[in-house]
Amino acid sequence: MVEMVKNQKIWIKNTQILTMTDQPLFSGDILIEGNKVVAVGKVDEQLAQGAKIIDGKGTVAMPGLVNTHVHAPMSLLRSYADNMPLMPWLEQKIWPAEEKLTDEIVYCGTQLSIMEMMMTGTTTFAEMYDHMNAVAEAVVDSGMRAHLSRGVVIFSDEQLNKLDEGIDLYRQFHGKADDRIHVWFSAHAPYTCLPPYVEKLVEQAKLHNAGMHIHVAETLSEIEQIKANYGKTPVEHLRDLGAFDVPALAAHCVHLTDNDMDILAEKKVSVAHNIVSNMKLASGIAPVTALCQKGVNVALGTDGASSNNNMNMFKEMTTAALVHKVNTMDSTAIGAYDVLKMATVNGAKALHWQDDIGTLEVGKKADLILVDIDQPHYAPWNDTVADLVYSGQGSDVKTTIINGQIVMENRQFTTLDKEKIMFDAARFAKVLQQ
Ligand SMILES: [Zn+2]
Repeated sequence: MVEMVKNQKIWIKNTQILTMTDQPLFSGDILIEGNKVVAVGKVDEQLAQGAKIIDGKGTVAMPGLVNTHVHAPMSLLRSYADNMPLMPWLEQKIWPAEEKLTDEIVYCGTQLSIMEMMMTGTTTFAEMYDHMNAVAEAVVDSGMRAHLSRGVVIFSDEQLNKLDEGIDLYRQFHGKADDRIHVWFSAHAPYTCLPPYVEKLVEQAKLHNAGMHIHVAETLSEIEQIKANYGKTPVEHLRDLGAFDVPALAAHCVHLTDNDMDILAEKKVSVAHNIVSNMKLASGIAPVTALCQKGVNVALGTDGASSNNNMNMFKEMTTAALVHKVNTMDSTAIGAYDVLKMATVNGAKALHWQDDIGTLEVGKKADLILVDIDQPHYAPWNDTVADLVYSGQGSDVKTTIINGQIVMENRQFTTLDKEKIMFDAARFAKVLQQ
């Protein structure tokens, strides 16, 4: 672990810049001051005086990736219960293990995921889980940026304390750590949160000027269950409960009708597309090209590490780029740049954080990564943007900067103790699986 320097000037020299503002890749420098980007392309040497210099030769500088659907502490359950369908996987394996979670264990699992995310280019993640105070503390300590919500599973008034935990999370952490943390509300899913409680959560979201993060239409059994109980699709059901009257982030959206897609478009609901998780749990393939055609904002997410099993957005980008081509039998269905947008700009939009993050521009928060393209799998650099998606690896990320702070430089962490976190993770994983 090397020492983290706060609020310094950073001058990245001679890099190739991908702003994600529809500009082609170009060579130049970047200057960061405090937590903001102050110059992109040309840097005034006077302004840059005293800056820490990073040699950007052989790298692409681009906005940090935004992972829009995560259950970070679940990294402790990585490869604990593989090759099972969603419901038995949850009911027989995951939920019993989660009963044993403590704040200490959640803090460690979150740090483990944050390490993997920082090492693979993610600078912001959207989390929905339990023990969220511990998750938030791990975010504060690591220098990560995060969008947090207490994922509420609730079937009776006796569980109303979970709603209070969501409110407490908002009060304690929204806007904290130099605005690195934003808080929304979350009903876990239409099948784990009864209608009056979904309505209560929406009410809180409205009251706090926040939004809703919710799992929607993940599996066919969910569709059948919601139809049997309410005579509607999950999307119609949630719309009728007002869940889309606040900013909404709908994770999965695998099984949608045409009408569902129209509702998502009309209500400006963003979709967190978790292709690897959906493949691993054999949930299905979300109609991403159709959603995009209807104008729905589609972003990418990894979901938890026990259904992926990585928190690596490069893997997500490659998979999304490939699957939707074969799914539509159309090799032009989705392009590399479209997928990069999903992982950056669209992710920022999905979290309603686009004024600060998602592109590499003057005035935005300095959340960016340097990707090492001086490697055989990028040569001969015919189309570096395409290479980032089709041949790029998470491990190509050399340096990660969040809110103007270098959290990883040359793959060395400045805020996290890698050996300790991995040692603790192995110890805590045993406790969960007893
Ligand atoms: Zn999920």
